Parts: sequence; C-alpha cells; structure tokens
Amino acid sequence: MKFGTRILHTGNEIEQTTGAVSIPVYHASTFKQNKVDEFGPYEYARSGNPTRDALEAIIAKLEGGVRGFAFSSGIAAISSVLLLFSPGDHIVVCEDVYGGTYRVLTGLFNRLGIEVTFVDFTDPAKVKTALRRNTKGVYAETPSNPLLKITDLRAVSAIARENGLLSMVDNTFLTPYLQRPIELGIDIVIHSATKYLGGHSDLLAGLVVAADKQTAERINYIQYSFGAVLGPQDCWLLMRGIKTLKARMDMHQSGARKLAEWLAGCPEVKEVYFPGLPDHPGKEIHDSQADGPGGIVSFRMQTEEMAKRLLENVKLSALAVSLGAVESIISYPVTMSHAGMHPDHRVRTGVTGDLIRLSVGLEDPGDLIEDLAAAIS
Ligand SMILES: *Cc1c(COP(=O)(O)O)cnc(C)c1O
Repeated sequence: MKFGTRILHTGNEIEQTTGAVSIPVYHASTFKQNKVDEFGPYEYARSGNPTRDALEAIIAKLEGGVRGFAFSSGIAAISSVLLLFSPGDHIVVCEDVYGGTYRVLTGLFNRLGIEVTFVDFTDPAKVKTALRRNTKGVYAETPSNPLLKITDLRAVSAIARENGLLSMVDNTFLTPYLQRPIELGIDIVIHSATKYLGGHSDLLAGLVVAADKQTAERINYIQYSFGAVLGPQDCWLLMRGIKTLKARMDMHQSGARKLAEWLAGCPEVKEVYFPGLPDHPGKEIHDSQADGPGGIVSFRMQTEEMAKRLLENVKLSALAVSLGAVESIISYPVTMSHAGMHPDHRVRTGVTGDLIRLSVGLEDPGDLIEDLAAAIS
C-alpha cells in the first residue's frame, strides 16, 4: 500500500472493544490488577496508556521501525535519546543542529560528561575525521535548520555501522511521508511532533522510533525511568493531526515551491534555500533519499534592514517560532530559533541578520506572495 493509505490503516485506527473509529482518550493514571502476581496489559500510565500505545504503534509503522515512543516535547524526546550515552562518551553532531538541541548538548549534557563535536555534515569525510576513540554516536538533521543543508543519510549510517556507533536523525522537517531514515540504515529517528505531525500549532510533543529491538528496549527503559511521557489528550490530538499529514504536506510543498520560485526572482532577495530548487546544494542526494522538498523556505535579503522591514510588515504569516502548521509562520532565526547558539557558531553556519525562515502554510500561495511583495516594498 502507498503511504497515503497506510497512514489511515496502520492497524491501530479502530478501538477493538467498541469499534470506535477514533481511539478514545484514556484519562487513567493507573490500571487495576486482579491479583498481586497477575498483571494486565497496563499498570501505571508512565509505563503505558492505551491512547499513547496507539500513537506509538502508528509512528513506528510509518517510520518502519520496531517500536515508537511518545514524549512531552521534541526536546524531551531528544534528551531521552541522549540519555543512552554515558560520561566520557563523545557524539558527533551536525553543526546546524536545531537550536534547542545545541542548547541541551552544550548547556546540560556536557555537564554530565558527554562530549560533543559539531561538524559540517554535508561532507561525510568531515564526520569521519571528527571520530575519536570514545565516539559513540552520530546525530544528523536533513534538510537542516534553517539553511536546508543536505546530509547523505546512507553515508552517515555507513560510517556509524563501520565504527559501531549509534546513528540518530531528527526527521522533523520532512516527516515519514517524505523521508524514512530507518530505510536508509539509521538506528533512531526523532521528531518534534509539535511541527508537521501535529500540524495545527496546538500541542507540544516528541516522538522517537527505534530500528531494532535492543535499542527499543533501552529507550523504553529511559522513557519509563526518566518519565517525560506525553499525556493522553495530546496523544489523541497528535493522532488526529497525523491522519491528514499527507494532504497537508502535499499542499505545504506545492505552496513552498511557488514561493521559493517567486523569491528567487526578487531583486531584493540575495539567496533562496529550498531543496526543490534545481541549483540547491545537495539536491541530487536529497532526491535520492527523500520523496519531496518539504514546506520550509529560507531566504537572505540584500541587507539586514530589509529583512527586519519585511518581518515588521508581513501580515499573513505569523511572526513566531515553530513551523509545520496549517498557518504560515515566518521567523528570524538569529534572534528567535537560534538565539541560544554562540554568536561565532551562528556566523560560521550562516545564521546572520539578513536571513528569514518561512514555514509555508495552507493559505492560497498567490495571497502569500502578494503579502510578501507588499512587505518587501
Ligand atoms: C522544534 C524542533 C525541535 C524541538 O521540539 P519541541 O517540540 O519544541 O521541544 C527539535 N528539532 C527540530 C528540527 C525542531 O524544529
């Protein structure tokens, strides 16, 4: 079956005892046992809840892994995965990693003795060069945020395999509809489900999928012990969001393509970053591992003043952090999503004052273009 069908028929769409076609929200923190030594399928909601179970099974199926895990936010999911590592371990991470991931690695996990090196992942040779005796993991995002740089996931998973490392990919930008890293050899897929999977700017959530049983068991232990689980109400909202993922992503992509092409022809715009443009660096690799460009367009104005003026005058796109929602969201990475990054690191990775990131929503693309044109002039 094609993804569009599978997304609605994962085997978890019907509640078995009543036949309800929407999985109910089980607001229960604990589950009664019949005898002291006789356990049912559920005990205490931190270890499992029927609503969360359905969501976790759905994301595992869509990513092609063995087991899924739902967390209270994307960063809770990322932090829980990072708890797989121990003091003295070293991880190689893409240098343009999500700002919050950079923050938790450099502000928190480094205190716990987990070492990190940030590297340009567009060149797999640089990843290899960064490996040390104590390297235990590699962590990638592709397309990256906010410049949509492309990492060759097959190459990264091969490096991980050859060196006995755990490979992790944050797949937030593309979702399993457009990219399935486990099929490319990656061990762990992570999502901020706050973005496209939820899709409506109405919840915070994180998801993790493990490719193999042993990794799944270790993550299960962390999820239960650390306890950053997603509540049943948000699990339900997220399942509802996922039902329309394909329909939304198709519209996000076609709108983003129109906007990217229009921006590329604007004299006030210096550069456009969108994996659907023919000259986007790494496009060939992207097309070999993903089924579409996604819905994020970043662009550089001729000057920082022009970027600020645009952001102050744009009306249809909300000036906000976050992305992947039905409404367009425009942001200024340097003071917003990437504010937590060291200024030198920002400059090195191209996050400067002339840069704007646009998450293209489901509005009519013609209206979005008209609004941007008015804001630019
Ligand atoms: C937003 C985001 C996160 C963090 O997720 P939260 O749900 O905000 O905690 C992680 N990675 C990427 C790529 C993101 O866009």
